[in-house]
Amino acid sequence: MADDTKILLSENEIPTHWYNIQADLQWPLEPALHPGTKEPAGPADFAPLFPMELIMQEVSKEREIEIPDEVRDIYKLWRPTPLFRAHRLEKALGTPAKIFYKYEGGSPAGSHKPNTAVPQAYYNKAEGTKRITTETGAGQWGSALSFACNQMGIECKVYMVSASYKQKPYRKSMIETWGASVVPSPSPDTQSGRAILAANPDSPGSLGIAISEAVEDAATRDDTKYALGSVLNHVLMHQTVIGQEAIKQMEKANAYPDMVIGCVGGGSNFAGIAFPFVPDKIAGKDIRFIAVEPEACPTLTRGEFAYDFGDTAGMTPLLKMHTLGHTFVPNPIHAGGLRYHGMAPLISLMVANGLIEPRAYHQKTVFDAAVLFAQTEGIVPAPEPSHAIRAAIDEALICKETGEEKTILFHLCGHGHFDMSAYENYFSGNMVDYAYPEAEIKEAMSSVPVV
Ligand SMILES: *Cc1c(COP(=O)(O)O)cnc(C)c1O
Repeated sequence: MADDTKILLSENEIPTHWYNIQADLQWPLEPALHPGTKEPAGPADFAPLFPMELIMQEVSKEREIEIPDEVRDIYKLWRPTPLFRAHRLEKALGTPAKIFYKYEGGSPAGSHKPNTAVPQAYYNKAEGTKRITTETGAGQWGSALSFACNQMGIECKVYMVSASYKQKPYRKSMIETWGASVVPSPSPDTQSGRAILAANPDSPGSLGIAISEAVEDAATRDDTKYALGSVLNHVLMHQTVIGQEAIKQMEKANAYPDMVIGCVGGGSNFAGIAFPFVPDKIAGKDIRFIAVEPEACPTLTRGEFAYDFGDTAGMTPLLKMHTLGHTFVPNPIHAGGLRYHGMAPLISLMVANGLIEPRAYHQKTVFDAAVLFAQTEGIVPAPEPSHAIRAAIDEALICKETGEEKTILFHLCGHGHFDMSAYENYFSGNMVDYAYPEAEIKEAMSSVPVV
């Protein structure tokens, strides 16, 4: 097994439980605060938006939570996912490092997101929800949720950031293929959408605005709940099937990672691969966790660890997280999934305490890495995980200099088949590196509420 290219598991090795890191962290996770009173929010405050089982998972301290049979059954459509040894990339780099990657691009939606979309739709169905709303930026979460709702027989409405709605018509068609309805946001369908359209009829929208619309829709209808594709504790927990499988696969390959690398937008794919390794780190194992973000949206490397809203209108509960300010409007870089002002509170807490190392890259060097990866390993990666590829290559090149045979595990959380216009932009030489100016960070940070 040691030199295999693909390390595979059988269906009966799909994890039976999700791993809840809240049981093992020594630092307290600050509670979410009610957006009006700024007092700690209780289960009742979340009940209009989420089914009770997910609210309980959000605050659970149980180390393991059982995956329902119906969810495991749907997971079988693409799980277990393969772990690859990047023999050809290693050779091209001339590195003594061993590089492994876990690939989630074979799921129906082409990313890790169905791992949480399916249980979220499942618990909604179990509690009688008829309809779910959500937002989507690049369209990855919208397509994952529409797939999951379709499996569960639940209606789904997606508010898609207007700029992406126009730029990514195929993601929109995919959402419609699975039976969901999708509108460009801001839309005339909600009060928050109408207010923004009145001020700016050509608004390109943002993730923060789309969240405001989806939350308002769910909060004002009895038959409707809301689903979020990242950031929240229960979402990160659902993704731990990835890391649990990776642990077994690394064992089969007779290897153990010196470092685990993933990209971070809201933090869920990174948590999915990294969290199951954290108990080893706590027990004293020498293992590094590297979270990679874009320089154009430098939430962990340049944001502040503070309470902030999850959306633009200030309707969501306040979360203690790294934030660039909820009024932040990111530059239109190609890694759409990494353009969010906030970060998962669990990831933020671990960064603040030094357990996770954050790192930022510009997009051109990220695409250099993406193309080298495609030309060696074959898979055309999405722009988001190409940030992780960049970091893995840089670490492997350090090994080349020092001669160390380190073992690197990174997360390839999605393919780039819907991102060819980004590649086209790169090949044409028109791609621009945006650094987020310090003055703009200060400006957006002034929107962070005083708690
Ligand atoms: C959504 C998405 C991301 C960013 O979200 P996280 O919650 O940080 O994982 C990254 N990569 C892909 C392929 C995505 O679909």
